[in-house]
Amino acid sequence: MSRWLRALFAAASLCVASVQAHAAAGQGTHAFVGVDVLPMDRDHRLARQTVVVADGRIIAVGPQDTVEIPADATRIAGEGRVLMPGLAEMHGHVPGGDDPAYVEDTLILYLANGVTLVRNMAGDPSHPALRARIEAGELDGPNLVLASPWLRGEDADAVAREIRAHHAAGFDLLKLGNIPVQAWPRMVETAGQVGMPFAGHIPDGVPLQDALTARQASIDHFDRYVEFLVPPGTDTGERDAGWFGSGWVQWVDRGRIGEAVSRTVAAGTWNVPTLTLVEHMASPESAESMLQWPEMRYVPATERERWRRAKREYAARDTFQPEAAGALVALRRDLLKALHDGGAPIALGSDAPQFFNVPGFSIHREMASMQTAGLTPYEVLVTGTRNAAHALGTPDAFGTIEVGRRADLILLADDPREDLTHVRNPMGVMADGRWWTREVLDARLDRIAERHAD
Ligand SMILES: [Zn+2]
Repeated sequence: MSRWLRALFAAASLCVASVQAHAAAGQGTHAFVGVDVLPMDRDHRLARQTVVVADGRIIAVGPQDTVEIPADATRIAGEGRVLMPGLAEMHGHVPGGDDPAYVEDTLILYLANGVTLVRNMAGDPSHPALRARIEAGELDGPNLVLASPWLRGEDADAVAREIRAHHAAGFDLLKLGNIPVQAWPRMVETAGQVGMPFAGHIPDGVPLQDALTARQASIDHFDRYVEFLVPPGTDTGERDAGWFGSGWVQWVDRGRIGEAVSRTVAAGTWNVPTLTLVEHMASPESAESMLQWPEMRYVPATERERWRRAKREYAARDTFQPEAAGALVALRRDLLKALHDGGAPIALGSDAPQFFNVPGFSIHREMASMQTAGLTPYEVLVTGTRNAAHALGTPDAFGTIEVGRRADLILLADDPREDLTHVRNPMGVMADGRWWTREVLDARLDRIAERHAD
């Protein structure tokens, strides 16, 4: 076959497959019949239930023999399987609009891993329209919550103008990066006026306690916690605090963790730990070996090369030598456990696609890290389901299996409370009432891998 014919054939089969995927992804009425349900409202499992979904909502949940199945419902066999709410990636990224294929692939990678909501943590002007297309069923993807582009204003006036522009453009929350410390009070004031939460990093020069007092909605990556844990008055000399405090970790007083926890609880500020972000850069595993992980086949070569270079660059930093990097990893795990046990709210997030975090796949690595830190599998699953809805200020919208909740669901072969690996490779994924079978998702994954094959 000539190259030209092959290209034509590939284009034609792409069209057929995409029609099929979209046909499979219409809203409508579905019934999961005879399935065991993990509602995630508390730690229990309801045997042999039927769950009916219509127009994107859960409309009935009950014992199999008591729930009437609408005549037009698509029946999904649930016997011997487990249905739970879909997972939220509360610190994820969706690319900008200049490469539509990359954007669409990223959305599929999330869905294929059971991620039914992404809180996108760095906005692009294309994102509100992208979300509208997903909601209209024109594009396959998870529910999106949209942070604005990074705030970057050089002074308070500029920051205030940016906030109003992001609000008008339809973003849901503000992504905090490094605004000048002098602009902080005005940022807090303006965000309050337009009613947008602010989240992400804590700017340089703003101490943790000020972000908490200002009711920052979420602190991601445990930003500024290390600096708080170093006792005031410690002589840090000229040494930079480094990446998430790696340069100062040697001076941490663990006796201050209790105060960090109580201040966080009092503020009600969420933490999205993104443990894997630091663990991937601190691990002794070589970048070359990490790039052999199975999910790397879905990553463009340019991105893989960026990660490989980044790991080498971090390893050369004098504030990120193995001893400090290892101490930082251990501290972050202990901090997560202390915050969680102390009642501070935690939401699941891995920061995909940063540093070896392949969208969707990385949420499972993050969950494994959280379990290593001492959370039970059930507690980890709560951070990615019910807690996500609470973190977004919409506790009744999704995150549990109850009548009225948005139909964000994953169908599993086994109970993930016994083993978190059971939440990988769901047999089917429903986001906003649209249903994708494993078969459809795998076909899409195969095509993404083909595009990136060397
Ligand atoms: Zn990020």
